[in-house]
Amino acid sequence: MSSTQAVAQPAGQPAGNPAKPAPRLSAINRPFWQACNDERLMLQRCAAPQCRRFVFYPRACCPHCGGGALTWEQASGAGTVTTFTVVHRPHHESFYAEAPFVFAAVTLDEGVLIYTRIECDPEAVDDLIGTPVEVVFRALSPTQKAPYFRPAAR
Ligand SMILES: [Zn+2]
Repeated sequence: MSSTQAVAQPAGQPAGNPAKPAPRLSAINRPFWQACNDERLMLQRCAAPQCRRFVFYPRACCPHCGGGALTWEQASGAGTVTTFTVVHRPHHESFYAEAPFVFAAVTLDEGVLIYTRIECDPEAVDDLIGTPVEVVFRALSPTQKAPYFRPAAR
């Protein structure tokens, strides 16, 4: 699609303010996204006694031991920035008005990696690697929240 073609706007989206990409809900990931709307960060956890590791992103079986029994547990919402970048030119026009912003890989205290936004002044960022962060929930759309993170005082 060329940039000059008109893009259909979903209901409720004013022209010039395109919708952000929405998660594609499935039987496997629905609990995660529904919990986000309740401002709870939920992770799958392997039920195999010899494993018990946390799993993210949502999957049908454990990537560590292959076990098929995964349960949902509420995460602490705490983590540490593993790496980051400052995005000046977003890939999707729905994010243009928010740039520049910080996009990061955060390792949660539960041991899983999550790609996310960090709420901080992107112009003041020097090195965020190792910074403790905590989850906050922000609206992607009128019906879906997503986990973002911000520096934590701990
Ligand atoms: Zn496992």
